[in-house]
Amino acid sequence: MSAHITRTLRWSLACTTIALASAALHAQAPAPVRTIPGFDKSAMDTAADPCVDFYQYACGSYSKLHPIPADLPSFDQFANLYEFNLQALHGILEKASTAHAAPGSDEQKIGDYYASCMDTAAIDKAGLAPLQPELDRIAALTSRDALTPEIAHLERVNGNAFFTLSSSQDFKDATREIAVVDQGGLGLPEKDYYLRTGAKDEELRQQYVQHLANVLKLLGEAPDAATKDAKDIMAFETALAKVSLGNVERRDPEKIYHMQPVAKFASETPSLHMADFLKEAGTPPVSELNVAVPEFFTGLNQLMESTSMDTLKNYMRVHLVDSVSSRLPHVFDQENFDFYGRKLEGVPEQQARWKRCVDATDSGLGEVLGKVYVAQYFSGDSKAKTSAAVKQIEAEMGRDLDQLTWMSPVTKTKAHEKLNAIVDKIGYPNKWRDYSALIVKRDDALGDGLRAREFESTYQLNKIGKPVDKGEWDLTPPTVNANYDPSMNTINFPAGILQPVFYDKTASDATNYGHIGSVVGHELTHGFDDEGRKFDAQGNLKDWWTAEDTKQFEQRTSCLVDEYSSFVAVDDLHVNGKLTLGENTADNGGLRLALMALVANAAHDHTALDTKTSTGYTPKQELFLGWGQNWCSTERPEMLRMAVSVDPHSPDRIRANGVVVNMPEFREAFGCKVGQPMAPAPEKMCRVW
Ligand SMILES: [Zn+2]
Repeated sequence: MSAHITRTLRWSLACTTIALASAALHAQAPAPVRTIPGFDKSAMDTAADPCVDFYQYACGSYSKLHPIPADLPSFDQFANLYEFNLQALHGILEKASTAHAAPGSDEQKIGDYYASCMDTAAIDKAGLAPLQPELDRIAALTSRDALTPEIAHLERVNGNAFFTLSSSQDFKDATREIAVVDQGGLGLPEKDYYLRTGAKDEELRQQYVQHLANVLKLLGEAPDAATKDAKDIMAFETALAKVSLGNVERRDPEKIYHMQPVAKFASETPSLHMADFLKEAGTPPVSELNVAVPEFFTGLNQLMESTSMDTLKNYMRVHLVDSVSSRLPHVFDQENFDFYGRKLEGVPEQQARWKRCVDATDSGLGEVLGKVYVAQYFSGDSKAKTSAAVKQIEAEMGRDLDQLTWMSPVTKTKAHEKLNAIVDKIGYPNKWRDYSALIVKRDDALGDGLRAREFESTYQLNKIGKPVDKGEWDLTPPTVNANYDPSMNTINFPAGILQPVFYDKTASDATNYGHIGSVVGHELTHGFDDEGRKFDAQGNLKDWWTAEDTKQFEQRTSCLVDEYSSFVAVDDLHVNGKLTLGENTADNGGLRLALMALVANAAHDHTALDTKTSTGYTPKQELFLGWGQNWCSTERPEMLRMAVSVDPHSPDRIRANGVVVNMPEFREAFGCKVGQPMAPAPEKMCRVW
């Protein structure tokens, strides 16, 4: 469980694909160009009134200047930097792929991993042959008892079947790494996709069944049989969805924590042969594990008995194919994109092959590629400067805690303890991971993908039973994101996000406080949002609050739930105030901390903060504009609809406006009148931190 600053780009792009002619294999990668500065006047709509719609004022021209590229579901400041990083990594990988580096070296691995992914001619020529051994394993299954080793194998190659197995810090003893089994195995993004009523959802379900049938046809089934089998798979997944926990409930760590002896779990789910499964999947010997959602496994246990073997086998092969379609002949790739890109996300065009192969290399060999990336794009004093800024925001959080009127001294002391224990991870890991056991072959795209997944699975499962490595990173260095990890009690800022627009050396301090300062504050606040506050300084899920302080906290968060639930995201869909509570709390706390840091920095000359600078704005206004411009974006309606159901972040327009309406300081900075849309009466404002 960890909370990020923005929706992870990768899940929205993972399924978008394109088959390029292989002539483009070694096209010269152009040098990356930065296009958007920290303070971007051109993105503003200065004819709009900031007191009526601040997002429109800060970002009203952004969509015109930056239309959504045809291969993306949305475009925003994160996507802009993501595209920059893609180009940077592209240059690194093109060079590595033509370097004829020593076999087994880092450079050979990233170069050949990228090259095999790019070689669509070889992929097409090989047809289904590379996947055939996998398909044969599934076809050979004749009894339910024989399923277990195959489920374990699919788990190791991340074939998205039935459920997930991973390692994680024990929520209640953060010094331990434990095994976790959790719900999974759905082809649609979330349980509600199977269960919601409404024309749009029904249409999407029909399209999904058609997609399943198309994959079966590509695997050689006759059309009629494929249609029937697809419906059976859909019925099975719908039954899985019914026993899955919804994403609002999943935000409560107690609801996804059920430590059990393996023997007890195995005896309650006999059809799953759990003891054998754990062994086959490569889990070190364990006597207990976290069964995150027990009712899911009880339900799955019954379904494994009541579902026909044919349906289970069809389900497994379709999910396996969908999980590797970019490494299969282009008809599979296009079928996958047609559903997951075009229909689900509304993306008209597949993403260029080189972008997908750069992404794939980042996800398969993240810390090898990341090492080269930081040497070229995050050198010099970047780490020290960011660390200093993070320390300053943390000091402001301490002051913020001291000033709270609703929290008792005893809880405040504990909160300070937790704040002081937070470890900042900036840029990249101090110690890089060892990839020497991973074999990469230039002529084996599918094998490279499967071996990388197995390598990752082995790495993750090997942690079980060992001491926690506090220096480990779960974001790769080029990632344009940041997160807070409650079990580690760390905030993490990869090199990928510490660049314009979020951190722009040429912009004013005030602008940077609005951008990266608020991001730092956001992650810090996650340690004290409705989820994070349940973990203590050592990262243990343990209640350190008095009952009265909890009541006070919940009163304040329920104000945010109601406020954000009243915002309309798209068409008739409202924001889910409960799903987005943690992120909204972090957004509100984050900008407040950034403002406090700006004010503290200017302690000697306060009037300067209200005096116009060369930009035509005061530093306080620049800070708010920096914040607003973090969220400049354009989203396709399909993507917005999906985000409302699965994304714990509010839509961008609402992220910008939802915070400033809670800040009297915004009203003062822009001279708004009480009662204007961005300046409600003080008693209507929500504030947690
Ligand atoms: Zn967040």
